[in-house]
Amino acid sequence: MCAKDLKDSAAESTERFYSELVLRHSSDAIIISDPAHMALWVNPGFTAQSGYSETELIGQDAGLALNGPETDPDTLRQIRLACQQRREIRRDIRLYSKSGAAYWVDLKVTPVYDASGRHTHFISTMRDITERKLLEEQNEEMRHAEALRQSERQLLALTSEWLYSAKSFDELLMVIKRAMHTLIPEADGALYVYNENRTMLDLATSWGSLPDFPHHILPDDCWALRRGRAYAYGQKPIQFVCDHVTKPGTPYFCLPIIAHGETIGLMHIVFEGFEEGGVMRHMRDQVLGNRWEISLICGEQISLAVANVRLRQELHEKSLRDPLTGLWNRRWFMDQAQREITLALRDTRALSLISVDVDHFKAFNDRFGHDAGDQVLGEVGRAMSALGSDKLHPCRIGGEEFILLGVDHDMSQALAKAEELRAAIGKVRLTALGQSLPPITVSAGLAVLGRDGSDLRDLMHAADRALYHAKATGRDRVVAQPPPVTEPALG
Ligand code: GH3
Ligand code: MG
Ligand code: MG
Repeated sequence: MCAKDLKDSAAESTERFYSELVLRHSSDAIIISDPAHMALWVNPGFTAQSGYSETELIGQDAGLALNGPETDPDTLRQIRLACQQRREIRRDIRLYSKSGAAYWVDLKVTPVYDASGRHTHFISTMRDITERKLLEEQNEEMRHAEALRQSERQLLALTSEWLYSAKSFDELLMVIKRAMHTLIPEADGALYVYNENRTMLDLATSWGSLPDFPHHILPDDCWALRRGRAYAYGQKPIQFVCDHVTKPGTPYFCLPIIAHGETIGLMHIVFEGFEEGGVMRHMRDQVLGNRWEISLICGEQISLAVANVRLRQELHEKSLRDPLTGLWNRRWFMDQAQREITLALRDTRALSLISVDVDHFKAFNDRFGHDAGDQVLGEVGRAMSALGSDKLHPCRIGGEEFILLGVDHDMSQALAKAEELRAAIGKVRLTALGQSLPPITVSAGLAVLGRDGSDLRDLMHAADRALYHAKATGRDRVVAQPPPVTEPALG
């Protein structure tokens, strides 16, 4: 052996010594296996990481020992392919220790060749990255939860915008149905509203797939209504099911709907399929908990929206009603008559106007005072209302001037109604200032669509001319047709 050879062999043994030191003391797990993946050697780091002793693993396929139920099969396939093709591969993978505990490693598998290029070994290095993965998972969960909350917030904002733009109760019900189904897709629901005398609640709308919501419920049947606050059934150890519920055992919420401090209804939300033992407990609790929060917000928003619609309707109604008699006012009459004329012309249906005016009304005021005059107007209003129907609309269009808008009323029907009104008013007896008032009489004039014109102005004008004719010919009568317009005599 020459001096150079001696020097080389010394360097080689030093290098082997260092390598051995690194392999023995590395905290990474290291497996050296043959080309068929049988483990030939493992370092102490591997024993510490996996819990398997050297003797337990030597001669085994390490991969098979370490894989478990949640090891990603796709990653395994990629590693196997790389080994077959003798390529180096590096992947994050979930492994299982001898005790069955899962842990994450950054795995690198490197094929090793001898001087002649023959594949002799695989070296697998595994760095424990469990903590990093846990943090990543937590971050991912947080991001997911935040994204969910964000989309819920957006949906709630959108819902409240829609709820507030509802103009009528029917429109509101449509929005509620749609919004609730979108916000809480896993639940069915129903909205109940108190009837007029508050003895019962009637089903106003429902959503989801449950067909069997009762059509009416009694206030005493519901714990939320009895206790005056939202009630969640299905999660507490002590709880009682409401009597209106058709499927006891199914979790549900009941939320009173309150407008202007008064409970006006109830929202009932049912989670079918979320029964005890149905879905996994933690998932069930999580979903119900989250939906409870949303339901409370929805309950409040719906309450405000209902109050809003009621107020709007009241104001709208007020703006179209005459306060003294409760009849429709001039504004309503002008709009409605215009609409009805258009429809009647389109469908070639009859329409008529009955113009009514109290005879010598000024005398009631002058002799018995303004209040007595108002009383007279009130009685005329009552008689008009009694005669009214969904086809005959009573309106007060001026001081002591009234109109009946007769939809589908031809001349003879309108005449009959006008006579009926005149007779009814003639029977009214009033007293004021301790005195009996003289009988009230009215004069009326008719106008009929087609015969007297085809627009509102012409019809009103014709009805007025018929009315004046009734006045001129003695009052207390109905004139069915305006007198012909006489041409001014030529001088
Ligand atoms: P005619 O038989 O020709 O219809 O005579 P009239 O007295 O009924 O008619 P006129 O138009 O001369 O008088 C109507 C009166 O109605 C004048 C007005 O002071 C009174 N009036 C108008 N609105 C009201 C009201 O709301 N209450 C009361 N009490 N009087 C009113
Ligand atoms: Mg008058
Ligand atoms: Mg008048």
